[in-house]
Amino acid sequence: MMETSFLKVRNTRTGLIDHQIPVAGPAEISAAAARCRAAQVDWQQIGPAERASRLSRLADCMLAHRAGIAAAVEADTGRRRIAGIEVDAVIGTVRGWAAFQGVPEKTDWTQGRSNPAIRHRGQYVPYGLIGVISPWNYPLLLSLIDAIPALLAGCSVMIKPSEVTPRFVRPFQVALDEAGFGDLVAIVTGGGSTGSNLIDVVDLVCFTGSVATGRKVAMQAAGRLIPAFLELGGKDPMIVLAGADLDLATDAALRGSVLGTGQACQSIERIYVDRSIHEEFVDLLAAKARQIRFNDEDIGRGDLGPIIYQNQADILTQHIADAVARGAKLVCGGRIHLSGGGLWLGPTLLTDVTQDMQVMREETFGPVMPVMAFDTVEEAIALANDTEFGLSAAVFAADLDQAEEVALELEAGAISLNDAALTSLFHEAEKQAFKSSGLGPSRMGAAGLTRFVRRKALIANTGRPLTMSQFAEDSE
Ligand code: NAD
Repeated sequence: MMETSFLKVRNTRTGLIDHQIPVAGPAEISAAAARCRAAQVDWQQIGPAERASRLSRLADCMLAHRAGIAAAVEADTGRRRIAGIEVDAVIGTVRGWAAFQGVPEKTDWTQGRSNPAIRHRGQYVPYGLIGVISPWNYPLLLSLIDAIPALLAGCSVMIKPSEVTPRFVRPFQVALDEAGFGDLVAIVTGGGSTGSNLIDVVDLVCFTGSVATGRKVAMQAAGRLIPAFLELGGKDPMIVLAGADLDLATDAALRGSVLGTGQACQSIERIYVDRSIHEEFVDLLAAKARQIRFNDEDIGRGDLGPIIYQNQADILTQHIADAVARGAKLVCGGRIHLSGGGLWLGPTLLTDVTQDMQVMREETFGPVMPVMAFDTVEEAIALANDTEFGLSAAVFAADLDQAEEVALELEAGAISLNDAALTSLFHEAEKQAFKSSGLGPSRMGAAGLTRFVRRKALIANTGRPLTMSQFAEDSE
């Protein structure tokens, strides 16, 4: 028998190794896949109403174990309020999908247009086993955002959470088992090789993470001819037009850029401001940024949690140093604050930036706000679109019509009008990533569920089947 190996997990607030996870290998993953597939047969049979009722029970069990799950997410991410919001959001998501009326099963018979003797109906067949691979920034939410609609659709699910933030798994597993999902949902822990082994056993993979890993996942999935739905990184721009209410625009820019210490895919990462208001905008944003407090001394106080992943701190430092070396001006923030073994970075405002700096081209994934002035709206649109990413964007204008006009020109999957990063607060609007930010149908809205079923056609001939003689070369 193979001995289990373990991965060490660092505590984001203390810097100490205080947790470990077993690394699931190929044999364990194959056995878990077999259990999931066996449980899925009944799960598909019981139909959407019963599945919804069992998902409601899962929400109840999560609520019963809320304290333990929230404490684990808090330890994973080093923040309390957002961890609580994350757990409640997931419970709300489970309840929301359980109440969803519209799980497709079969369509009615439709008479053919080209040949009225032939009619057809559709059957929707769930994939047997969905794989979910998730990142470290919102560990519980991003492990379940695809898993829950997949379950409602009739699939079984195997989840590989990030090895950086896996503490939530134990208390969540208790809720899963209590709700009767022990066989239908498998959580396998480990690093990249466990993720790769998972892709070898599932029928479809949902991946949330970086572009670099997403590319590997897509190639492996292509080799097996299974779909890969990818939700990847971004470099979201925000455009602020002359005439915008600067108090509101700076509120949105600050929250959009630094909430969760900027460790969110939909964070604002570049801000383009009309030159006529640039100075006033920067002054106001800097004044608000300076009010932001760390939660280092007391997790129950402050606005910003730590940089969750140590390696991310190196990227932040590098992007800021590169910008300053190339002539950017650091208005506030910019220095990593070491406290009790953890790493914090305050809102970092950079001006005099140029489009070729790393901070304007690569995903920073931290509370960094590079602000650039523009002279014409066309220039702002061109700058915003000058990126390999296309996740989301924001436009702040004097009114919504003006904001919409600009939004229609932006190459990104979701545009917030007169606010920023609205995709984190509102999940009903369908959206697909542009460019390198992702692949596949929308995870938001109703498509979030229908992408987990395949449409099968039943085509019935009510007349006589055609005969071979009707196709003979010498027939009339
Ligand atoms: P990452 O790509 O490093 O890792 C993501 C997951 O992939 C982890 O669970 C990791 O173990 C696994 N993995 C690594 N190598 C693998 C391989 N070869 N095969 C299969 N799985 C493998 O990403 P991260 O650093 O954890 O997360 C940050 C990234 O996630 C950022 O780029 C961020 O923008 C992105 N993200 C995107 C969204 C979105 O909805 N678009 C949401 C959150 C985060």
